[in-house]
Order: sequence, then C-alpha cells, then structure tokens
Amino acid sequence: MDAREAALRQAHGHALRWLASLEDRRVPARASVEEIVRALGPELPGGPSPPADVVDLLATACEPGLTAFPSGRFYGFVVGGTEPAALAADWLVSAWDQNSVMRAASPAYAAVEEVAAAWLLDLLGLPDGSAVGFTTGATMANFTCLAAGRDAVLRRAGWNVARDGLTGGPAVRVLAGEDRHMAVDLALRYLGLGQPELVAADGQGRIEPAALRDALASGGQRPTLVVLQAGDIHSGAFDPFTETIGAAREADAWVHVDGAFGLWAACSPSYAHLTAGCADADSWATDAHKTLNVPYDCGLAVVRDPSAVRAAMGLRGDYLIQHEQGDPIDKVPELSRRGRAFTVWAALRSLGRSGVAELVERLCRHAAAFAAGIARTEGASVLNDVVFTQVCAEFGDDARTERVLARLLDDGTTWISGSTWRGRRVMRISVSNWSTTDEDVARALDAIRRACADA
Ligand SMILES: *Cc1c(COP(=O)(O)O)cnc(C)c1O
Repeated sequence: MDAREAALRQAHGHALRWLASLEDRRVPARASVEEIVRALGPELPGGPSPPADVVDLLATACEPGLTAFPSGRFYGFVVGGTEPAALAADWLVSAWDQNSVMRAASPAYAAVEEVAAAWLLDLLGLPDGSAVGFTTGATMANFTCLAAGRDAVLRRAGWNVARDGLTGGPAVRVLAGEDRHMAVDLALRYLGLGQPELVAADGQGRIEPAALRDALASGGQRPTLVVLQAGDIHSGAFDPFTETIGAAREADAWVHVDGAFGLWAACSPSYAHLTAGCADADSWATDAHKTLNVPYDCGLAVVRDPSAVRAAMGLRGDYLIQHEQGDPIDKVPELSRRGRAFTVWAALRSLGRSGVAELVERLCRHAAAFAAGIARTEGASVLNDVVFTQVCAEFGDDARTERVLARLLDDGTTWISGSTWRGRRVMRISVSNWSTTDEDVARALDAIRRACADA
C-alpha cells in the first residue's frame, strides 16, 4: 500500500466511525477551541510526516470538537445533512480534482452540470433554458442574480456598468421586504447598492402587496430591483408572488427571489402552492446544501435570461478555451472552483422526482410534529403559522425562553438555536436534515420538556 492509499483508508475509517456515532452522540461539541488547538499541537513541524499519520492526528484531535451538524437531531440555523450518494460523490470530487471552469477542460463536469441544471429547473418549476450557476451558497447566489439584475436595469436606462462602473450612473433602487434575510443586504453591499428600501411585511414576514405597489408608484422611472422571499427563516412564510411580481414587472423592475430553502416547496405537489407565481420572476437564489442535503458548499443562482448573467459574470481570456454556447464560469463569480454539480447530480439521481418530493414533505411533517408537541407542553406556545419547515416557540417570557434554550443545549440531545422574532426571544426550530426520523423528533421534544421542567 502506498502512502496515498494508506491516508485514504485512514480517512475512510474515521469517516465511517463519525457517521456511525451520529445516532447517539451529543449534538453539541464537547471540547473548546483551545482544547482542540492543544490536541493538534500548535507548532509547525520542522519536516514531513506520513500522510496517514497526519489524517489520524487530525481526526483524533478534532473529534471532541465536532458539532453533529449531520445528526437528525440538529435543528439550528437552516442546516441540511448529507444524502449518502452526495457524500460519496463529494469524495470523488476531491479525488478527481476537476477545475470546473470550462467545457473544453472537463467534458465530464460540463455534462453533469448541464444534466443537473435541467433537472433542477424541472423540479423547481422554473423556466426552461434559464442559466443555473453553482455557487458556494445562497449568499453568493443572491449576489450573482442581483448582479445580473443590477446590470440589466441599468442597461435599460442606457448605462453600461461593466464598462463604466457605478459612479456617475443612474441610482438603482432596491425594494425588499422588511423580513428579508440579511444575506440579501450583504449581496447588495458587495454590489455597491447599499441598504435596500424596506417594504412592510405582515405578522408572518410576508411582504405586503399594497405596500410594494405604493413604493413602486412613488419611485418614478428609476431602475429598480425588487427582492422577494420564498421561505422566511423564522416563520417559513412565502411572499405572495402572484400579487407582487405582476406589479413589479409593470414598473419594469427586475424581480429576484431569495428561496434559499423554501424554493424546494415547488418539488412537492402538497407544498407547491406556496411558490405559486414565483416562476414569473427574473432570477432565483437557492441552496443545495440546505433542503437538498448535499455537503457544503453549494448554492444555485438561476437567471431566466442567460445573456444577463453572462454579461455580469462572464469573461474572456486569451489563454482560456471558451465555448460559443457559454461555459460554467459565465454563470458564477469565481474562476477556479470545485465541481459542485457532481454532488447535486448524485443527490437528484439517487432520490428521483418522488424522492425529492418525499424529502420536502417529510421535513414539513416533522416541523408540524414539533409544533404539535410544543403546543402540548405546559407554558410553551408556537408563535408562527407552521406552513413549511420552520417553527418559532416561546416559553412564557424572554428570560424563561433563554433559560430553556440554555438548558436544552446543556442536555445535548439536540441543538436548537434561539433568535429574536417580532420583538420576542424565541426558540427557532428548522427541520432540514434528510435523516431526521419520528424518533429523533420525539427525543428532541422530550429534551425540550426536560429543559422546561424547572426553568
Ligand atoms: C441560509 C439563507 C441564506 C444564506 O445562504 P448561505 O448558503 O448561508 O450563503 C440566504 N437566505 C435565506 C432565506 C437563507 O435561509
């Protein structure tokens, strides 16, 4: 066995032991950053070490400091696990080491990206022929889509950003719901567009169509972007797309939808009504590392008019071998990058159409079970209408909610983060992992009841 094979076997063994431990391990990490630094040894060695020993040291030292993100009992933030086919494909992505920049450089990557993109448009109910770029996550997908939109609305106003920059050009107006995700603000900051103008939202975080119409009417003829949301991180609510997109298009605005986890509702006949009308937008950002459960990192930037994203992100280089139909790099901000479409293809090929629908429905069913279990818990109440995968609960007052959250984290059965929603401290549950079972939900609910008992 050569040194490389020994290192790979070492990694394989550690990976299998880690995955097997998920069933029963505490979800929060047991060790602190300082303890892991000590276990690794802070000194850079003076010379080489055998690769297998390095992998063994890394895995052994890190093990106590790992959070069980892929556990079926992790419900913090919006965190997906990893579908088995996608995880195995991801190992190949590293072994193959394809640079996914150009068709001519890796026909295998270009082919897989093309097939996966067509499947995604079909499943998400988005227009055929849209460009699908594979980014690091939904933040960069929002950035990519909004760059295409910014340049398009300025082009319609007679201004060429790619050539002349933003300085001296017409001001771009950005309208977004007051409960948009902060990643939208970050993307706008990268784009030099500043803070969005906020449009009122209702009690579930859905943008108010009348408020949007008023805002559009007050703007005159300025180049405008409208940012809508499929899936609010607190309530799971979806903006009313039919009532908003028509009005925005009449005002000649570019309509973008941030659907990092919610866009996947379209894949299930039981939840597709939540995204009704959404396909009439100009661009959509979503994640594959959340609801679809591929490993980090993978977001998707979908733009109806491929020439718009190519104008914003494409490039020509004398030493590149470029294809007249466009290349993977024409749809994303980076040049060199890993082959993200391989894992997406593997997850979709493994689940099939019914498997993706069933995945979405299962996550929603578990969220409903959380809501029902919390509603039955003395002194606890669910604050949102549970329409999708998100549940927000409170436990009497802010101080008690905080105590319940702290005790729950100490207990370790589950990992659920707190947040502030509509002015109140809440326990925020996001069900996003393919492997969560009814038993995981029951164990997590028991832990919540224990945490409540003398809080
Ligand atoms: C997670 C999330 C984002 C940011 O996505 P990343 O993949 O973390 O970059 C943006 N919008 C919403 C609604 C999200 O849930």
